[in-house]
Amino acid sequence: MTHYIGISSDVTERVRYAEEIERHANYDTLTGLPNRNLLNDRLAQALVKSDRSKRPVGVLYVDLDHLKRINDSLGHATGDQVISALGARLAAAVRTGDTVARVGGDEFVIVLADLKRDDDAALVAAKLMNGIGTPLKIDSHDFVLSASLGIALYPKDGADAATLLRNADAALYRAKEQGRDCFRFFAPEMNERVVQFLALENDLRRALDMNEFRLQYQPIVRLATQEVVGVEALIRWRRADGSVVSPVNFIPVAEESGLIVPIGRWVLETAMQQAGRWNRNGRAPLFVSINLSARQFRDPRLVETVRDALKGAKVDPSLIKFEITESTVMQNLESTERSLKALKKLGVQLAVDDFGTGYSSLGYLKRFPLDTLKIDRSFVKDLPGDRDDLAISRAVIDLGRGLDLDVVAEGVETRAQADILAANGCEFAQGYLFGRPSDPGDLDALARPKRPQRRRAARRKR
Ligand code: C2E
Ligand code: CA
Ligand code: CA
Repeated sequence: MTHYIGISSDVTERVRYAEEIERHANYDTLTGLPNRNLLNDRLAQALVKSDRSKRPVGVLYVDLDHLKRINDSLGHATGDQVISALGARLAAAVRTGDTVARVGGDEFVIVLADLKRDDDAALVAAKLMNGIGTPLKIDSHDFVLSASLGIALYPKDGADAATLLRNADAALYRAKEQGRDCFRFFAPEMNERVVQFLALENDLRRALDMNEFRLQYQPIVRLATQEVVGVEALIRWRRADGSVVSPVNFIPVAEESGLIVPIGRWVLETAMQQAGRWNRNGRAPLFVSINLSARQFRDPRLVETVRDALKGAKVDPSLIKFEITESTVMQNLESTERSLKALKKLGVQLAVDDFGTGYSSLGYLKRFPLDTLKIDRSFVKDLPGDRDDLAISRAVIDLGRGLDLDVVAEGVETRAQADILAANGCEFAQGYLFGRPSDPGDLDALARPKRPQRRRAARRKR
């Protein structure tokens, strides 16, 4: 080879042009959001993913109410600004894996990939409606927008993208028929559930004032001696019509609506007063365990609320134990550590509830100022026969002992369960075998009387 010839050319312009074409093909120029083209791609991908994960996909059709009025009175330029602002709000309200696309003048489609349950689409829809309704200022005009939403769910409302879009559109049509500013599901039974949910929330809002809550207490025993060492406070709701709603059904509603904060405050004040009463009435120390929900635990005023309640009840803080579920404890590890330490500083005890159902970081488990692990009922249920459950229970017991934590087995219903747990080193248990949740009066007798030497010791101290 004697020489070679090179030719080069600058393709920047061509690449830019191709990108521009791609953008035109896939994105809406006004809002910068995906257009119908890209929406179809994303929706198809979401459906494939859902087949693997078995999690539902939500398709939401959103239509701004009364855009025509804005266009007619203030002109199209203002109308366009309203649409852009709305698009930005929708995009900000969903998670990163979700898609917000503009598919027509004032129409948007949102794909909610990876929902936990069908019902969660309603929560997202409610959140979107809230975001849309926040006052908006454009130039010197104030707008309060509203939109109508139709929801279809994969796989229940259609097997392919086209059917889902059509059914979400049909649901949107019904939302408009209902007078706009609302959302409707394609499936009638889902709408029924939303109505029930809203009714429950409404009743829940009044339940505190109406005195419809009370607490029951379930004994926690030392397995070796069967003596009651503490109790867990469990909330009960009896409505005015006499029907009783399980906490399993209303605590999630209370969480979602934020009502859990005032309800939770009532629970902890009531339980602490009861703890004070039991422990003043000539009984040996009996601790009272109180459940804290995720939202309560993250409430910045929790520590203050607990401090005030402890003072009000004049109860020894070491007799109060807070139960926080494993999944709550293991979320936001940094802030959890701060919250747990702040609670611990007040002198209360801390337990991880439903242990084994989530994923624990063992490093953090060691770092957190915990006192107790509660083995979830699901691992106790099939003891002693189920080998896997036995292995898990054993592992939790060993872990607890290794970390110097008390271990309480939940949901112990049979002697055989109690025996195998005790044989494997589990110190404490709770369940129907030892006592059902009952009214505080019924437990006065169950709490063990103070031992004489303890009484003498107490007198000496005074
Ligand atoms: P949890 O904290 O795991 O409470 C234990 C549940 O197991 C209670 O149901 C109790 O009645 C039940 N249980 C106890 N022993 C047995 C048994 O031997 N067999 C069976 N099958 N079940 C047993 P409950 O009272 O319906 O409460 C359900 C859940 O509601 C609680 O689960 C807790 O997560 C929540 N909860 C209850 N009260 C409160 C409260 O005051 N605040 C908050 N945030 N959550 C509460
Ligand atoms: Ca509990
Ligand atoms: Ca539990």
